[in-house]
Amino acid sequence: MAVERSAWLTTWAGHVADWLYPRVCPGCGAMSDRPGRHLCWDCLARIELYTQGLCSLCGRSAEGPVNHAFVCGACRQAKPRFDRARAAGRFAGVLREQVHQFKYGNALWLRHDLTDLLEGCLNAHFAAGDVDVVMPVPLHAVRQRERSYNQAALLAKELARRFDRRFDGRTLTRVRTTATQTALDAAHRRMNMLGAFAVTEPAWVRSRCVLLVDDVMTTGATLDECARTLKKAGARTVWAVTVGRGT
Ligand SMILES: [Zn+2]
Ligand SMILES: [Zn+2]
Repeated sequence: MAVERSAWLTTWAGHVADWLYPRVCPGCGAMSDRPGRHLCWDCLARIELYTQGLCSLCGRSAEGPVNHAFVCGACRQAKPRFDRARAAGRFAGVLREQVHQFKYGNALWLRHDLTDLLEGCLNAHFAAGDVDVVMPVPLHAVRQRERSYNQAALLAKELARRFDRRFDGRTLTRVRTTATQTALDAAHRRMNMLGAFAVTEPAWVRSRCVLLVDDVMTTGATLDECARTLKKAGARTVWAVTVGRGT
């Protein structure tokens, strides 16, 4: 009886919340038809998920069909310092719009939708039970003050909660800002990022398996430098998951 009543109350609380705060789909602008989520079913189906044919290290999608494990040219040229990175889907269309609203439009309520994608990615490509600690890619303090929150930290915290892992948003810090790196080649990107991060307390990462979380991976140089910093401080394994990946 008590269970029935609480289910009834939860449903009604959901209706009231929907009436007070309508769940508008960030993809099409219509009311969402998915309970508790903002992205509607149609828009969700339009996200191009990365499931197979991926570089076994960085997760880059192969140009053509592949049916065997492979390492991409970029990773063969400069081996990443993380052990594995994966993105949930292609950073385009609905997914890009969703991340932009979350990151620049203060649409913090999208964090559950975005964490769903990270959760699926973690389940598909990693052994979540092996993760000791979940860490966001840190923003520089100045940038964080401008934006008032670190979007990666919100996602990392929610992901850690769902998998019952420890969240740590303090140990890995950004110690300097970096120039934009769109025009740089791979080697220069590494140099550009060198020394951008620091570990405040090595005891928190020593011999641990760290899962890094960010919203978007583009060149992978940021995750690579985070991983280098964590490994230098003694981390055993560094994995990375992002919501989207640019090509
Ligand atoms: Zn939609
Ligand atoms: Zn690769």
